[in-house]
Amino acid sequence: MSALDRGVAAIYNSKCEIDIGGRLSRKLGILGGTFNPIHFGHLAAAEEVRARLQLDRILFVPSSNPPHKQEEDMPSALHRMEMVRIATSGNPSFELSDVEVRRGGKSYTIDTIEILRQNHRGAELYFITGLDSFLEIRTWNRWEKLLSLCRFVVLSRPGYRFTDLEGIDFMRPAAHELSNLDAGKLSEALIRAGSFTICCEQIPLYDISSTDIRRRVKAGMSIKYLLPDTVEIYIIENKLYA
Ligand code: ATP
Ligand code: MG
Repeated sequence: MSALDRGVAAIYNSKCEIDIGGRLSRKLGILGGTFNPIHFGHLAAAEEVRARLQLDRILFVPSSNPPHKQEEDMPSALHRMEMVRIATSGNPSFELSDVEVRRGGKSYTIDTIEILRQNHRGAELYFITGLDSFLEIRTWNRWEKLLSLCRFVVLSRPGYRFTDLEGIDFMRPAAHELSNLDAGKLSEALIRAGSFTICCEQIPLYDISSTDIRRRVKAGMSIKYLLPDTVEIYIIENKLYA
């Protein structure tokens, strides 16, 4: 490898975004969640979106624990982060971000995005959510500002339909595309609503949720093939959710 190649590789692997000849080049996906625990639904969906949208990297951003509230099935943020770290370690495009846990307390997505914009100057940000989360978008803090700061990528999820989004006024003009997504006639639709750009992605469905995994562990049922073996071992060794 030449010195130049090594230099380019070093820049590529560094955390700063590259600006070559004035062209900003990095596409950064962000998947926020409680990851309690992380499972194959998260990982498969993130990989599908990475490939479809040609993202350079996806940051997995576990939320911090709610202050003064250590719920029975809510292990410390450090356990949830560690499980994300283990689960993402085999994919060079996936990375754990501790931005919310380090900040502590309640994190609003808008604050997280503003920090990530500072830390990854020049990157195009793609905030990835399942349909279930996006349906609540108008309850999120400063949601209009948030939608204007990054592209949202909305993923199909078992139990939810894209046409459910017609209840959101700015999505209503896209009713036709939304029903085509549900019908499987479209696998993706880029919806522009004013200054918002929303990518709706009909992805292969994984009927997996963290709630179901916690319930299974508590009931002594198998969680094999719902999450990576390494995460299963971590749950057993640390007696989580039992
Ligand atoms: P819980 O049952 O505790 O709410 P969860 O499985 O929904 O857990 P979260 O950490 O809440 O996982 O999810 C983080 C993000 O990943 C959300 O935007 C959610 O919609 C999305 N997501 C989670 N599981 C899936 C899945 N199986 N398919 C598509 N999206 C998913
Ligand atoms: Mg959830």
